[in-house]
Amino acid sequence: MDSGTFDSMKVNDLQEFLAKRGITTTNLRKKDLLQLCEAVKSLDLPVDPDFARQSTAVDLKQKLSSLPISDPFVDENFTNDFSEVPTNFTLFDIFNYLLHKTSDYDKKKLRAYKSCEDYRLFIDGHVESLTFNKCGDAEVCLFRAKVKPTQKDKTYCCTKFYQLWFAIKKSTGEVTSAYCTCIGGMDGACRHVSAALYELEAYEIKSVTDGENKWMKRPRSHDCPVPIKILKIVKANCCFLHSSGVFIVACLVDDFNECAQTDILF
Ligand SMILES: [Zn+2]
Repeated sequence: MDSGTFDSMKVNDLQEFLAKRGITTTNLRKKDLLQLCEAVKSLDLPVDPDFARQSTAVDLKQKLSSLPISDPFVDENFTNDFSEVPTNFTLFDIFNYLLHKTSDYDKKKLRAYKSCEDYRLFIDGHVESLTFNKCGDAEVCLFRAKVKPTQKDKTYCCTKFYQLWFAIKKSTGEVTSAYCTCIGGMDGACRHVSAALYELEAYEIKSVTDGENKWMKRPRSHDCPVPIKILKIVKANCCFLHSSGVFIVACLVDDFNECAQTDILF
């Protein structure tokens, strides 16, 4: 870039020149931006100094190139028919994958995996959809999912769900690749991917005589915020020990009434 080129550039272009080199600017006048640009030029600062943009684009391209289809987010062959999903996928495959992929997981965390946030996402019904693509005779098959964010109603990019996909080796159940649209989703080991993996592991394949093998979102009516005026107050009426060993609290789902005495038949 020749000396003096900056003078002919607009403010937006100067800001972009600096931003590409890792320098963010706000409320600076053109005169100050020009000085900064000249200083950056004299230091010969590299574009994308932390390689974030480059590595993200390259990583995603590499991930996609290893798949049997070009883009799982736009492919139309995903279905909730799970009759041909690999039956050898287990918790061990999830743990092996997460231990290898993220430093968040260690032996201690695995011992208490049910208390981890990603497992809570799964158990609380945040996995809104899970679909399957056999990918013909390919070595791997693919799953695509939408996962509701925690706490906030929308994701950081103002969508209702995070979208993700993951690939599983048909012969072994090994998770070979994954990607999520959340900030930390490029490494394929974010909490949303983990929740979707737990969701798949929990799916029970039915026998032919037991009906269709279709994944359906489990009803979780309690996790949706509602206006307080339509909130139902529930009173525990009685409790007993079921023959299965589960201690059951039976509730009268109705307007709260201190004096209500209702017999509940089981
Ligand atoms: Zn994610």
